[in-house]
Amino acid sequence: MSTIKVHDKVFTIYLSNADIQERVRTIAETINKDYQGKKPLFIAILNGSFMFAADLFKHLTIATEITFIKLASYKGMKSTGNVITSIGLDAELYGKDLIIIEDIVDTGKTLYNFLPKLKDHQPASLKIAALLHKPDATKFPLTLDYVGFSIPDKFVIGYGLDYDGMGRNLKEIYQVV
Ligand code: 5GP
Repeated sequence: MSTIKVHDKVFTIYLSNADIQERVRTIAETINKDYQGKKPLFIAILNGSFMFAADLFKHLTIATEITFIKLASYKGMKSTGNVITSIGLDAELYGKDLIIIEDIVDTGKTLYNFLPKLKDHQPASLKIAALLHKPDATKFPLTLDYVGFSIPDKFVIGYGLDYDGMGRNLKEIYQVV
């Protein structure tokens, strides 16, 4: 079906599952080359990245590990902005080659606020793999090392991404009409 309704909104198909799979495989191949002889630790950010992480991981042929975390933001002691805290980050990060797996980078605020927390652990390196990027919406300076698709600034669902809890199970990515 090319058009679906989720809650009150109508979505139309934007990326087919075949296109997603092909792109994810290509990213995995690039990572396999970039990390030859290394043993990167992937940090997948829940909930949205679970499908991307699973498909990407299946195509990795290097020695590698993965861990899953949740990010929660709360108002810090200072009134200036949100502090991001991670739930489930119990792996040893010191000296490791880290690759963050994120579903979508929109404003970039989440990752921009979270990166210093990871850097505090003094990893050997830190890269970001994002399935989707909305360059027109991104306001925080981030270097995205692996990007699946650059997309317009429109709300999308499917392939792990939700609208108010629904739509994560869709194999394709849909864009709001
Ligand atoms: P940022 O901090 O980059 O503005 O936002 C990152 C998070 O916002 C993503 O990890 C995702 O959970 C959510 N988000 C941003 N844009 C979209 C979108 O188009 N669709 C969905 N489902 N979530 C989005």
